[in-house]
Amino acid sequence: QAKLSGKNRYCFFDAEQDQSIRGHHANLEQIRRALTVSEFILHYQPKVNMRTGAVIGVEALIRWQHPERGLLAPALFLPVIEDHPLAIDLGEWVIETALTQMDVWRAGGLNLPVSVNIGARQLRQTNFVECLRARLLAHPDIVPNGLGLEVLETSAQEDLNRVSTVIDACREIGVLCALDDFGTGYSSLTYLKRLAVSLLKIDQSFVRDMLDDPEDLAIVESVLGLAAAFRHQALAEGVESLEQGEILLQLGCELAQGYGIARPMPGEAVPDWVRSWHPDRIWSQQQPLDRD
Ligand code: C2E
Ligand code: MG
Ligand code: MG
Ligand code: MG
Repeated sequence: QAKLSGKNRYCFFDAEQDQSIRGHHANLEQIRRALTVSEFILHYQPKVNMRTGAVIGVEALIRWQHPERGLLAPALFLPVIEDHPLAIDLGEWVIETALTQMDVWRAGGLNLPVSVNIGARQLRQTNFVECLRARLLAHPDIVPNGLGLEVLETSAQEDLNRVSTVIDACREIGVLCALDDFGTGYSSLTYLKRLAVSLLKIDQSFVRDMLDDPEDLAIVESVLGLAAAFRHQALAEGVESLEQGEILLQLGCELAQGYGIARPMPGEAVPDWVRSWHPDRIWSQQQPLDRD
């Protein structure tokens, strides 16, 4: 499979490196300390429309800039605080940092929607939407729909009533929600009907294997069918190759994210990346959806 090439690739950790440090989970105290001394940072991964070439936004992804161990992936520390109140503090830090970054980009002439990942513990916080609203009010230049939330399909299932109420309340204050890693849970049609999300993010495991595995391809197709039926948008995660992008376009999936488009990068690198992104060279040959 041909890898897409691109300038401005920030490759801070790869699977092997990640593997070598896996198992060294941080403990709660270390994480609490890291939050106090500001060792967490956000990287941002672009989301694009492969057909039109538009950059539709970026997703904020947390990393831990550890003084000895280097840049650590979220899998190494988020599970440790999953069910702990510290997850709420860290989640608030993520939202505030993303909003501050948006203000910086905006001051430089770049208006870019940002989505942040919301953990199950945060969703259960009783005043979650109130806090979110207060934070948005403190950043008055951020337009409605500028901030989006990504909720794991699996955490939405934990408490459907609660999560659907939160999603409705977010929508009322102009914050749209996406269902992340879609296809890895067991959402019934009833679930989907109850959740007023605007975007289904097709889990990268299906995208990765869809060229070789007809069942994964079938899953991708049915998620696209579900999205269309419920009038949600769909986005393919983990698009690494040109072939994957082409098949997705043929299936009618225009929105994508993945290493083949851009790796997550520091906030300072985003404006240059947006300026230098030339999608037309990559995907414009393949537009089977335009029939006229
Ligand atoms: P996610 O939200 O599904 O994010 C996508 C993950 O896949 C990211 O890993 C991203 O770096 C990686 N990725 C993107 N494109 C590709 C690709 O083409 N190939 C491959 N192999 N991987 C790709 P990351 O940053 O390690 O994050 C893992 C998960 O940790 C995220 O999955 C999300 O569930 C969680 N997470 C990240 N940041 C936050 C955060 O601030 N708060 C919460 N609650 N969870 C977060
Ligand atoms: Mg996500
Ligand atoms: Mg995902
Ligand atoms: Mg994931």
